[in-house]
Order: sequence, then C-alpha cells, then structure tokens
Amino acid sequence: MNAIEHIQNRIEKTARACGRDPETVRLVAVSKTVPIARIRPVIEAGVRILGENYIQEAGEKIEALGDQAVSWHFIGHLQRNKAKFAVRWFDLIHTVDSVKLAKEIDRQAAKLGKVQEVLAQVNVGGEASKAGVSPEDTEALLRGISSLDNIAVKGLMTIPPYFDAPETVRPYFRSLAELKDRLARKKIPNIILDELSMGMTGDFEAAIAEGATLVRIGTAIFGERQ
Ligand SMILES: *Cc1c(COP(=O)(O)O)cnc(C)c1O
Repeated sequence: MNAIEHIQNRIEKTARACGRDPETVRLVAVSKTVPIARIRPVIEAGVRILGENYIQEAGEKIEALGDQAVSWHFIGHLQRNKAKFAVRWFDLIHTVDSVKLAKEIDRQAAKLGKVQEVLAQVNVGGEASKAGVSPEDTEALLRGISSLDNIAVKGLMTIPPYFDAPETVRPYFRSLAELKDRLARKKIPNIILDELSMGMTGDFEAAIAEGATLVRIGTAIFGERQ
C-alpha cells in the first residue's frame, strides 16, 4: 500500500468509527517545500487537493502542474499584497483572519470575475504567535465579509497549539466545531459554514472525530520536510 492509500484508509476508518460518511472528509495533501517531481506521483495516486503555504513557491508549481486535474488550496499566512496571486491560483483560501484582507481578496476577485471561496482562520488557542481571529471576534469578521460580493465564506479553519498527544489537542478541535455551530445558527447573510479545516499528520484522527471536513496532511504523505 502506498502512503496515499494508507492515509485514505486511516481517514475512512476513523470516519466510519465515529459514524461519519468518509466522503465528508477530504484530504488536502500539503506539498510546501516538496519539489514538483515528488508531487506528480501523489496526484497519480489519487490526491485531488494540494495545499501550499508560500505564494511564490506555489505559483511555480501550479504553472508547472497546470495540466493536472487538481484543486489548489492556500493554507499559509496571506499578506495583502499577495492576495492578487492567491485569488488567481487557489480554489480555496483557508487563512482569512481580517476584514481588511477579505476586502482585498474581494477586490482582486472582482477584477477576475471570480467569487473567491475562503475559510475564516480562528486562533482557538489564543496564542500570540499564531495568526487567526479570536473566537470572540469571529462573528464580527463574518459580518464584515457578508456584504462583499466576490468572496464567499465556506467554513472555519484552525491550527491549534502544538501538543504531543492528539487527545490534548482535541478540545481545541471541539471548540472550533462548537463555534461553527453557534455561528451557523446566527444565519448571517451570504455566510455558509459547512467546512471545518483542522487536523494535520499528528492529530487528524482526533480532528475527524470532532467534525473535520478538510484534513491538511504533509509529513505522513511526503515524509519529513527539510
Ligand atoms: C505544514 C502545514 C500542515 C501539514 O503539517 P504536517 O504535520 O506535515 O502534516 C498543515 N496545515 C498547515 C497550516 C501547515 O502549515
């Protein structure tokens, strides 16, 4: 069994074990720092979504792999002056954490006649070192995006504090899921909260148990990064 089949199996098993339809959990293969020659085989093995963190690196890869039927997701920190490229290249931007950034994405998307799908990144651990809007400010962020025509919120994303044991991270996943449910009940116009982007190599099973719909996995697919 190759690494992709192995991961897909673990995703399916975990989803079934918690009574979820495995089809509701999508794998984002995180290919940051991984060269194109090692990405192609992963696409051939069935990966349909690739996640990248750095705009310039991603652009080169996306141009080179433009013939492939894959969707590209941006999962890194997005600077406003790079929004133009993110909108050009990515189907989903996971990391919108301010109205200012959302407005720039909206402006760039309007130029391309595109409605850019995004997730709101929430800093569930309240860590000073991490990007993301605080849970308390997430509603205001969504309301700020709600009136923009060329950007569409699809859900929430988080990078929880790093712990060795997945079970220690799990309460953070749960709190993101609860925040999503709470905000969904507010029925903010034009805001759809279907997706929960959470879980990486070390903790994706706990994330699936708490409702993840997008798991972002790098190391378990491509090996340790340099
Ligand atoms: C690098 C990265 C990942 C993948 O992490 P692994 O532990 O290698 O699976 C997932 N999400 C984000 C935001 C990342 O930057």
